[in-house]
Amino acid sequence: MHQDRPAEPGMPLDEIDTPALVIDLDAFERNLDRMARIAAAAGVAVRPHAKTHKSPVIARLQAARGAVGQCVQKVGEAEVLAWGGVADILVSNEVVGPRKLARLAALSRVCTVALCADGETGVDRAAAAAEDAGLRLTLLVEIDVGAGRCGVRPGPEAVALARRIAGSRHLRFGGLQAYHGRAQHLRSPEERDAAIAAAAAMTGEVVGDLRDIGLACAIVGGAGTGTFAREAASGVYTELQVGSYAFMDADYARNRPAPDFEHALFVLAGVMSVPRPGLAIVDCGHKGIAVDSGPPLVWQRPGVTCLGCSDEHGTLELTAEAQPLAVGQQVLLVPGHCDPTVDRHDWYVGVRHGRVECLWPVAARGAMA
Ligand code: PLP
Ligand code: MN
Repeated sequence: MHQDRPAEPGMPLDEIDTPALVIDLDAFERNLDRMARIAAAAGVAVRPHAKTHKSPVIARLQAARGAVGQCVQKVGEAEVLAWGGVADILVSNEVVGPRKLARLAALSRVCTVALCADGETGVDRAAAAAEDAGLRLTLLVEIDVGAGRCGVRPGPEAVALARRIAGSRHLRFGGLQAYHGRAQHLRSPEERDAAIAAAAAMTGEVVGDLRDIGLACAIVGGAGTGTFAREAASGVYTELQVGSYAFMDADYARNRPAPDFEHALFVLAGVMSVPRPGLAIVDCGHKGIAVDSGPPLVWQRPGVTCLGCSDEHGTLELTAEAQPLAVGQQVLLVPGHCDPTVDRHDWYVGVRHGRVECLWPVAARGAMA
């Protein structure tokens, strides 16, 4: 932990030290409830992605609503979640470093762990780590269903890799990882429909080919906040790896239609300078809020827009009609991108009805390995 606690339970919102990462607990809980309801109705499991929240506390709230486990992207995230009591973790990513694989093998003594591979090197290194540790590791084959990132091509190569896993005395074949990342932020529903229809068709074919050789896919995982209803309805995917839905950022709000979740994550920033009318400078720049998906939205302040962020300053422009902002006032910013914004803070400040209710550590902050 680097940062002092920015608030204490019971404080009113305007006494929170800025900049601070704030959760609107009512909106957040409604988001969790809504995803749980939709997935249950579709008959698919939710395995939320902890790359978004990096918190065993939030994992616990998702588990209470039926989540079957958590996804992570990094071994360090897996460790923090396991130490925090998460019982079932999927590393939805390739892990090829021997030291990282040894850490995952060690972790698999205290909780269920699976990871992905998209080539022979990854499979063989995971087998070596499992042999060294004297246990079996579960591997999913990652297939590229259109994202153009990791993943073996769906087809014979994917089947061969699954065979290699199943043929190892040190490994267990766990299924397929079939996440279409690029589809999440396609703006029109037609584009998202087409992308996920193609992804589901490719994935379904591989599942069938594997079944034909006696290999069952216990997990067929994918989906994010932009497309999850499509994967859920496909009949192919068994687990939804949604992350951002819990917080809902400004970039997802630009999808058409926007995913039906409420903005629940904010950075509370303080106005530190009003150099001239029509301009207000806040104490949060891109070191406090991610701008890789554009500048933040200024929450519930019509006529106020964020022009941009430098390291420690955010520049707000006010129209003539906007309610003026004075030095010492606070604004809530909706991050353009929630995941990296969370990673810039040590604490979540949970707020309900204008008062601080709880502080939760961003426990896996900075997990890069
Ligand atoms: N699954 C994987 C493998 C991801 O990389 C991501 C995010 O990038 C997600 C799921 C979750 O996506 P989202 O936060 O858009 O719901
Ligand atoms: Mn993201």
